[in-house]
Amino acid sequence: MSTQFPTKTSEIKEKFDKFINKNLIDYSSKRNFDLGSPHTNVSTLSPYIGRRLMSETDILDIAFQKFKPNKIEKFVQEIFWRTYWRGWLELHPIIWNEYEKKIQDIEPPKKTGIKCFDYWTQELIETGYLHNHARMWYASIWIFTLKKDWIDGAIFFQKNLLDWCPAVNTLSWRWVAGLQTIGKNYIARADNIYKFTNYKFNPVNELNETASPLESQSSLNQQIINKEFEKISFSNLEDIGLIINKNDFSLDSLLKKDINFKICLFNCDNSLVDQSELIKNFENNLCEEIINNNTNISYVLSDEALINWITKFKIKNLIIPYETEGKCLLNRKSLLNKFTNNNVNVFFYLREWDRLAFPFAKKGFFPFKNKIPELLKRQGFTN
Ligand SMILES: Cc1cc2nc3c(=O)[nH]c(=O)nc-3n(C[C@H](O)[C@H](O)[C@H](O)COP(=O)(O)OP(=O)(O)OC[C@H]3O[C@@H](n4cnc5c(N)ncnc54)[C@H](O)[C@@H]3O)c2cc1C
Repeated sequence: MSTQFPTKTSEIKEKFDKFINKNLIDYSSKRNFDLGSPHTNVSTLSPYIGRRLMSETDILDIAFQKFKPNKIEKFVQEIFWRTYWRGWLELHPIIWNEYEKKIQDIEPPKKTGIKCFDYWTQELIETGYLHNHARMWYASIWIFTLKKDWIDGAIFFQKNLLDWCPAVNTLSWRWVAGLQTIGKNYIARADNIYKFTNYKFNPVNELNETASPLESQSSLNQQIINKEFEKISFSNLEDIGLIINKNDFSLDSLLKKDINFKICLFNCDNSLVDQSELIKNFENNLCEEIINNNTNISYVLSDEALINWITKFKIKNLIIPYETEGKCLLNRKSLLNKFTNNNVNVFFYLREWDRLAFPFAKKGFFPFKNKIPELLKRQGFTN
């Protein structure tokens, strides 16, 4: 297991503190450089944020204790980029449905002779991480130089990224291809790679630097759905059970301020893509760490065990982390029927962070970005 991504609570905290205290101040000027593992000029927190082992509010709370928001504006914007992509996909589910239909088993790419590309292939497989700039270059070379299908590239990332996110990954690959911002593709250029890898790679004359965007079905991007993101209150409920899972490992610490509940950790997957052993081990180790540190949390590894837990604790109201597009773990008909048969009401809980932001993710990032000060205020961040 790569030590770049620890699973012990104390080591994760140490990693986070180190980034906030040492590197965050220079984030804006240094973030675009891919200096290789361990990538200390960026946070490398995405595998934890994506599973909400630490939430966006937890992170900004601590960052704002040390810096005024305008001093770390770029970092705050990046935190919101994830929210934006998740909200956008939630309002355009057809994009995920189309991607999901084309999921197939793929082999890792063979050596291409393009040194940087082959290096990043290896880095991704071995560490489960690539720097953001490397992801952009990689996707661009995959699509425009190697002329491979962007969907296979997105699947390759899905199989190997420790921070894989259906919204961020799929929409970023579409963005590079020129399918997201219609007619505008991202071209990886040798001089840009040379500069931002600190002169490590210089693929002059090896890349297609004049490619046009892929042909798009632009009508897909217009198919936005009307979705209300309701606020749910649990204050009148009794016999509450709370599930945490890899969609949200810390919902308990958010809700325990307001309500009492029994809690279980559900660790079971039904993904169409077989992810790498590195990812499986990372997730299992995180789950074990949570269980070892919290004797009040039951560990549940199957649907059947979940129903047994519900019966054992006489749960009547079950709170489950909201499942955005591509994140379905429990929102399955067969399981929902079992809850109904056991007279259990189910609530898929969307955090306020997402509930307030998602409605602004209808168009491009720039109108969304303008809402960041208002969203921060509504989250209770005052300065
Ligand atoms: C083709 C491609 C595929 C990608 N696939 C994923 C993916 O599956 N999962 C994923 O989490 N990110 C993905 N990204 C976005 C980005 O590369 C990663 O979020 C970032 O590199 C994570 O590293 P970090 O935590 O060190 O980021 P930092 O630079 O430290 O940023 C802090 C946090 O902000 C968020 N963030 C930063 N950059 C972006 C971005 N461009 N878009 C959305 N959120 C961002 C992440 O939550 C990140 O942890 C992809 C980008 C591209 C170009």
